[in-house]
Amino acid sequence: MIEPGTVWLVGAGPGDPDLLTRKAERLICAASVVFHDALVGQGVLDLVPRQVRLVPVGKRSGRHSKDQKTIDAMIVEAALAGERVVRLKGGDPSIFGRSTEELEACLTHGVPVHICPGVTAASAAAASAGLSLTLRGMARRLTLVTAHTRAGAGVDLDWKALADPQATLAVYMGKAAAGEVSAGLIGAGLPGDTPVLLIENASLPGESQFRTRLDLLPIAAKAALGDGPAVILVGQAVATPAKPGGACAGETPLSAYQRL
Ligand code: SAH
Repeated sequence: MIEPGTVWLVGAGPGDPDLLTRKAERLICAASVVFHDALVGQGVLDLVPRQVRLVPVGKRSGRHSKDQKTIDAMIVEAALAGERVVRLKGGDPSIFGRSTEELEACLTHGVPVHICPGVTAASAAAASAGLSLTLRGMARRLTLVTAHTRAGAGVDLDWKALADPQATLAVYMGKAAAGEVSAGLIGAGLPGDTPVLLIENASLPGESQFRTRLDLLPIAAKAALGDGPAVILVGQAVATPAKPGGACAGETPLSAYQRL
């Protein structure tokens, strides 16, 4: 399934191994070496056969264990040595996954490279909360945005373009920038009572979900979120869970944040 000397960029999904595609699982099993991110779930790593070399190249915000150029060089070198290379990335490789650098590095060195998609965090978060990211007539647009910044820099986003009451906004890597996201969107005209859902560790055993509103987001993010990866969903669509009563596991009542 993988030719020697070839690289596959493979989406590992949000963490739950049952959310891995069948193709991703087959690629993992056919690899001779798997380079994986820190965000790839343990349940997924457990599917890697013993004879396959497993190499962590994890990057977590502010704690880069390997820089991007080193990772590019490692996968190219392995492919040029004739290995069957899987580069396993959290979620979908094409969404905030630095896959362009790895694709370019492979192409520059004449290494054949392919992509296997995965379930992205926003989709997993919506599924866990039992809601739809789009809503007929109310949420016609879905925007995926990263609030990650280089150390010391402010969040540089076009708030006017993002403050669309008919859109759902999924903010990746937004925990540290929750204050800026809230102020930026409200400053650009989005109402302070716009519904917000915070989901940490979506699809994983430690998953938690918290409902709040845009003006309370900074307090809510501080109070509710821990160390795990979290996605912030903003917009009218997140106020309409499919479950009766709108209850979701681990929900913190809005009033708790209003009192803070
Ligand atoms: N390629 C990935 C995103 C990588 S950026 C994807 O498609 O999902 C890393 C960010 O993704 C995290 O900071 C967080 O915002 C989000 N994320 C990844 N896994 C997550 C999970 N299980 N639950 C919630 N957010 C997650």
